[in-house]
Amino acid sequence: MSVNIQKIGVIGAGQMGSGIAHVCAQHGFDVFMLDMTDDALASGMSRIEKGMGRLVSREKMSADEMTTAMARIATGTDYASFGDCDMIIEAASEDEDVKKAILKLLCPVIKDEAIVASNTSSISITRLGASTDRPGKFLGMHFMNPVPRMELVELIRGIATDEDTYSAVRELAAKLGKRSVNAEDFPAFIVNRILLPMINEAVYTLYEGVGSVDSIDTAMKLGTNHPMGPLELADFIGLDTCLAVMHVLHDGLADTKYRPCPLLVKYVEAGWLGRKTGRGFYDYSTDTPVPTR
Ligand code: NAD
Repeated sequence: MSVNIQKIGVIGAGQMGSGIAHVCAQHGFDVFMLDMTDDALASGMSRIEKGMGRLVSREKMSADEMTTAMARIATGTDYASFGDCDMIIEAASEDEDVKKAILKLLCPVIKDEAIVASNTSSISITRLGASTDRPGKFLGMHFMNPVPRMELVELIRGIATDEDTYSAVRELAAKLGKRSVNAEDFPAFIVNRILLPMINEAVYTLYEGVGSVDSIDTAMKLGTNHPMGPLELADFIGLDTCLAVMHVLHDGLADTKYRPCPLLVKYVEAGWLGRKTGRGFYDYSTDTPVPTR
């Protein structure tokens, strides 16, 4: 019997966690969102408020619907609050040790029948699932950024994921207004297996001086009809996440073509993580982003 999902837990209130909480609340689910600090939760909630506010101003949601949806979201730092959730979606930083530590804290406090999903961009669902007490009820549910606007969700079964779990989550994705595609459990699944090597190659193109930030992004926007250039997109994703995905591809597929560009490594070491820290390949301290190279 598939579990009837009514209340959803979200771990991580960053760009993705807050987007997932937004979409779940907008579609009538009660949500509990957890992060490590009250500050992280406050900025997650203000991102949700801004996102819903935009929908109201575009008349895609009424002001009353926004008030009701915001009231469905509770936040906190205590895992015990996941006790009445039917499903929990982990969306913390892209680091396997961090995710496994979170799953260790989570599993003992949730219902036996609760489904656990990870929004990981690249990490093995089988390995994450094996670190829980419920590999059959564990799977990958990979939303795209920004969650309220992007229609796709990749669904990834680990080797042990059971069919009821997969179909319950596929139904949930449809209720959230998303289209799901199945991806097998290989490093970075489908979207990031293709996208991240392209972004890494754009950073190599910059590193080798083939083009400036502006010429690379303009070339790819006008030359391939992409809505965003690859460096602009890297800043949007977060350079730490991009680097983490390249490491997973490099380690998991053992092919030198996935070697992370040294310039990407250096930017992450400098704390230049893109939009979320105000600087990446562009500087975001003024209204119009300024290319840094
Ligand atoms: P982010 O840096 O914006 O947010 C990560 C959040 O996780 C932060 O608020 C941080 O405080 C929190 N966190 C870290 N360790 C934690 C812990 N131990 N317990 C609780 N919270 C913790 O990152 P993001 O872009 O939201 O990415 C989150 C996940 O979503 C990653 O797995 C990433 O690969 C995946 N993802 C990202 C994108 C993207 O475009 N950024 C797209 C799809 C999936």
